[in-house]
Amino acid sequence: MSDSCIFCKIIAGEIPGKIVYEDEVLIALEDVNPKAPHHYLIIPRKHIRTTLDLTTADNDMVGHIFQVAGKIAHDMEFAEDGFRIVNNCNEGGGQAVWHIHFHLLGGRDLTWPPG
Ligand code: AMP
Ligand code: ZN
Repeated sequence: MSDSCIFCKIIAGEIPGKIVYEDEVLIALEDVNPKAPHHYLIIPRKHIRTTLDLTTADNDMVGHIFQVAGKIAHDMEFAEDGFRIVNNCNEGGGQAVWHIHFHLLGGRDLTWPPG
């Protein structure tokens, strides 16, 4: 837990978030500024600053994130049409919140490459 971290505050219930899935490892919530009809943030409960701060102790957690992303896409019925999982790392990679998270985007045709 980081006192200044907005995602830690959502996880702690100190500020609201539209949570669509949660378990002991992570939460998934609607992105406040969605870039697709389905846009969720999958966020581990553990405060990890960036992808570069992951260790081998986090391997199961990262695998779980991908499992849950597929489950959400399936349960919300956009899996078959296609979806994207995105992790932005550091400023040049587009990271704005310094608590690791994975964007799950779907519900429209997604162009490539991203900006
Ligand atoms: P990133 O640029 O990869 O760090 O993504 C941060 C994402 O968090 C952006 O898509 C924001 O719209 C989203 N975001 C920021 N604050 C909140 C919040 N309080 N609830 C939901 N999503 C948020
Ligand atoms: Zn945090």
